[in-house]
Amino acid sequence: TRAYNFSAGPAALPEAVLRQAQAELLEWNGVRASVMEVSHRGAAFEALAAEAERDLRKLLAVSDDYAVLFLQGGATQQFALLPMNLAAPGQAADHVVTGHWSAKAVAEAGSYVDARVAADAGIYTRIPDRPQWRLSADAAYVHICQNETIHGVEFQDAPRDLPAPLVSDFSSTLLSRPIDVSRYGLIYAGAQKNIGPAGLVVMIVRRDLLERAGQPRANILSYAQQAAQHSMLNTPATFSIYLARLVFAWLLEQGGLAAIGERNARKAGALYAAIDGSGGFYRNPVDPAVRSWMNVPFVIHDDALHARFLAEADAAGLMALKGHKAVGGLRASIYNAMPEAGVEALIGFMRDFQARNG
Ligand code: PLP
Repeated sequence: TRAYNFSAGPAALPEAVLRQAQAELLEWNGVRASVMEVSHRGAAFEALAAEAERDLRKLLAVSDDYAVLFLQGGATQQFALLPMNLAAPGQAADHVVTGHWSAKAVAEAGSYVDARVAADAGIYTRIPDRPQWRLSADAAYVHICQNETIHGVEFQDAPRDLPAPLVSDFSSTLLSRPIDVSRYGLIYAGAQKNIGPAGLVVMIVRRDLLERAGQPRANILSYAQQAAQHSMLNTPATFSIYLARLVFAWLLEQGGLAAIGERNARKAGALYAAIDGSGGFYRNPVDPAVRSWMNVPFVIHDDALHARFLAEADAAGLMALKGHKAVGGLRASIYNAMPEAGVEALIGFMRDFQARNG
C-alpha cells in the first residue's frame, strides 16, 4: 500500500501519472518499445518533447518572449551556470538570502561573478522588506529562491522595482499556483518535487537574456545553445521528460494552476491552523506572511518527542516527516500530488499524538 508521502524531494508523484507510466512501460505509443528505449531524435519522442513544452507553456501562460528548456545537472548546477550565462567575468550579481538554498546559490556564484548579498534574513524565518534591499546599479541580475524548501519561507509574489532581471529558483514551488512569468527574467526548477523524477531541470528564460555574452563555457553549458537546439544538444533525460509531460497533462485535467493553487492554499491553511491552534505543543517559526504552501517545517515543544512522533506517524502510513538536519524537528512537504485527505490524515494524527503526549 502506498503511504501518504511527505518527502521534500524526490517527492510523491500523482498516482494516476504513475499508473499510466506503469501501463505503458513496456510498449509506449505504438513504438513497440519503452519510451526509455527509443531515440530522442525519433519522431515519437520529438512529438512528446514538443507536447511537454506546449503544456507547460499553457499551464504557466508563457509567452513567446521566453524559451523553455529541459536541462540536466539539477538546480545546483544552475547555481554555477546562471552567472556563467548571464554575467560578464567579475560583473556584479545581487542575491537575496532567505534560507539554505539562496545561501548556496550566492556562495557558488562567487566563483564567477562579484556575488553580492543585497539582503540576508539572518534567521531564516522572514523575508527582509524590499525597501531594505541594497541593490547594485550595475548588477547583471537579482537572484532569489522563490520557496526555501528547508526553512519553509516563500515569496508570495515576485518582488517589484528591481533594477536588473529577476532570476528565481522555483525548484520546490513551480506549478503549485499561478504566477506571472513576465515579472521574471529567468525561472528554473529541479523537477523532483512538483514536476517529475530527478534528472531534469525546467527553465523558462526571457530570450533577450540568451543574447548576453556571459563567460567562456562549453556549448553544453550554454543556455543559448540549448535553446537553439531545443534542449537536444545531447541526449536529454528522456524518461524524466516523459513523466513530466504526464504530470503537465494531469495538472491541466485538474483545472490548471488556478484550481491546484486553491487546493494547495486550503491544504497549507489547514496545516498551519492546526499547528498554531495546538496551544504551543507544535510550533512553526515562520512569519505568517511568507509561510510556504509547499514545505511546512515544525517542531514539538519537547525535542525528545520527535523520534516517537516520526516512528508512530510512519506506522500510521504518514511517511518522510523528518525535518532537514539543518533545522531539525519535523517537516511536511505537501506538493501537488498530496491529496487533501493526506493533510487531513496528518492533522488527525497530530491531534491524537498531542492528546497522548500533551
Ligand atoms: N534549490 C531548491 C529550492 C531545492 O529545494 C533544491 C533541492 O532540494 C535545490 C535547489 C537543489 O536541487 P538539485 O538536487 O536538483 O541540485
